[in-house]
Amino acid sequence: MSKIIFFNLPGHGHVNPTLPIVTELVQLGHHIIYYNSEEFREKIELTGAEFRPYPEPNPTPEKVSELVSSLVNVTVFLFGESKRLLPFLLAELEREQPDLVMYDSITLWGMQAAHLLKFPTISSISTFVQEDVAGIFQWRDYAHLLRHVLLLLPKIMQGRKQLVATYGQDVFPYKDIFPCVGETNIVYTSKEFQPETPFVDESFHFVGPSINTKARVAVDFPWELLENGRSKVYISLGTIHNHDVAFYKTAFATFADHPAQFILSAGPRTNIEALGDIPENFIVRPFVPQLELLPKVDVFITHGGMNSVNEGLYFGVPLVAIPNHLEQTLNARMMEKNGAGIVLGNRPPYGRFRSEELRRAVDELLQNKQYQQEAERLGDSFRAAGGYKTAVQHILSRLEQLQKHEQAVV
Ligand code: UDP
Repeated sequence: MSKIIFFNLPGHGHVNPTLPIVTELVQLGHHIIYYNSEEFREKIELTGAEFRPYPEPNPTPEKVSELVSSLVNVTVFLFGESKRLLPFLLAELEREQPDLVMYDSITLWGMQAAHLLKFPTISSISTFVQEDVAGIFQWRDYAHLLRHVLLLLPKIMQGRKQLVATYGQDVFPYKDIFPCVGETNIVYTSKEFQPETPFVDESFHFVGPSINTKARVAVDFPWELLENGRSKVYISLGTIHNHDVAFYKTAFATFADHPAQFILSAGPRTNIEALGDIPENFIVRPFVPQLELLPKVDVFITHGGMNSVNEGLYFGVPLVAIPNHLEQTLNARMMEKNGAGIVLGNRPPYGRFRSEELRRAVDELLQNKQYQQEAERLGDSFRAAGGYKTAVQHILSRLEQLQKHEQAVV
């Protein structure tokens, strides 16, 4: 059986799709050593993988998300983390001598360590491929990005220079730094949802969302409160910027007199008492079993995180997306372009909307079944792509190739 090392970063959106894959590989008898920050231990150990923490200080998932919301800030951060973690990772890889190294596509240090020591690689790409895509960036996005780039360019150049000075040019083996590709690349969406880009070649496999309810930590939910015969709208801002009290109050005011029932995941850091009176038609919880809830709802109001968009569409639920930043906006625009929902706050600084617009969007999705049909069409394309089982097949065939190659050399 093979030994696989997985490098990820502290972000639920980057870790969640890997969990069903790792669970399956462990069940097949492979030894997976999975690196992340201590906060992810429980989630990762549930897969049966051996968890190992990165040396401290590690950023919190909140910090990572804040950084990921700007492609420029995140680059400066990732360069700094590579500098900090590479000595440790190189020593770990030298000692463990894995058969294969897997990494998330923004876990720069993972790609660099594997590449420097010439281990076979697979990249796990939790967004669709954004490099060189046609048709979804707007000039305002570039203007927004450029302002940040100009400010941080000296830091980016310095970070790159330091890494090259220590490890040589090979520390940046590819023309584009992000996404950090591997010899094989697994993308958690379908070809239908991936915008056109010349960046994608035959090493990319579009496996659709990697979803398996059993690979998640169990969460209680008052199922008995869901009323039969009433439309249901689920609201979640994901796991990071989810303590937005103003947004939740707006949702209450906008929908208190609405005939539908609303389920709000308010985030564990939100003081639910401080939200004031909860309208009769709302169920508010700090965290909900999203995968089990989605098949029971008619509309999903989401921040547009890739996992939430994937999961909503997987279950054929049309979306109102209110993105917080560019990456979420791109997911949301793709979803809207496919006719599966509506985006609000679609331009920089992103996420601004009026409550009438929100109510109108929800009503439109509840009344016009075309959106649901398009969501179901995408959901079908996601399921047809095979999900985590297909991802595992690609990993196994890569391992098989490597074994054959090794036998041929011996
Ligand atoms: N999630 C959940 N219950 C909740 C809120 C979120 O299970 O109450 C899960 C959801 O299923 C998804 C993830 O958290 O897999 C959120 O990831 P996403 O990429 O949408 O957003 P992020 O948290 O990275 O901003």
